Amino acid sequence: MGLLDNKFAIITGAASARGLGKATAKLFAEHGATVAILDLDEAAAKAAAADIGERHVGLACNVTDKAACDAVAAELKAKWGRIDILVNNAGITQPLKIMDIAAANYDAVLDVNLRGTLYMSQAVIPAMREQKSGSIVNLSSVSAQRGGGIFGGPHYSAAKAGVLGLSKAMARELAPANVRVNAICPGFIATDITGGKLTPDMLTSIVEGIPMGRAGEASDVAGCALFLASDLSAYCTGTEVDVNGGSLI
Ligand code: NAD
Repeated sequence: MGLLDNKFAIITGAASARGLGKATAKLFAEHGATVAILDLDEAAAKAAAADIGERHVGLACNVTDKAACDAVAAELKAKWGRIDILVNNAGITQPLKIMDIAAANYDAVLDVNLRGTLYMSQAVIPAMREQKSGSIVNLSSVSAQRGGGIFGGPHYSAAKAGVLGLSKAMARELAPANVRVNAICPGFIATDITGGKLTPDMLTSIVEGIPMGRAGEASDVAGCALFLASDLSAYCTGTEVDVNGGSLI
């Protein structure tokens, strides 16, 4: 018996092979969920869904496009009859210093990380309200908490801090409908968002600053998402869970 048997889950930005979304999708599938993998590229989303098993679906969805979010949620609700879980995972970073952030940089980072979280949540909330159950898990970041992104830039820190505020406000508003909203704050996790941007020296110095002495794995975040998505966390809402190897101690 899986922790997510008979549950239907949507995960945004989950096509990236080494990403947190794909690892979460795989773990949810292993625990019995049927998963929709959303991402910018339809072929990549379909391939990622096929990779975790045949009952799963991959769909193109740009989370900054409200109409696209609404259309995908409507399609999945019609197919499944319900939507139990949403993981707002899609995100982008830009390694810029404060004076280098142009309006277009600010808009792009805020749009994907924060506006996308709102739009996709708005797309599934009516179904969750109707069912009187649901779990929304939002990906924030240690960058929101320590005000410094290794790669993200100040606008990324601002967007991810916004995700925390939005999560708590949604949690408060939706609690009477038994829809829970929680956030995960990953520390340094080795994925494409971090890979390729670091020299070996930078990597060594980052890991030296982590009390547990290692970078996180995508599976570390997936495990936390499984807890928050499942009934194991039935009385948790409005929380933020740090998955950072002790980086804030
Ligand atoms: P990743 O780059 O591997 O994956 C992000 C995915 O989002 C990609 O597949 C990309 O195509 C997709 N995406 C980008 N813009 C999109 C859009 N407009 N609509 C839909 N999909 C879009 O990144 P990751 O490391 O797996 O990060 C996942 C989440 O975790 C992000 O929100 C990120 O900010 C957050 N996070 C990551 C780390 C880390 O160290 N890796 C740390 C803290 C927080």
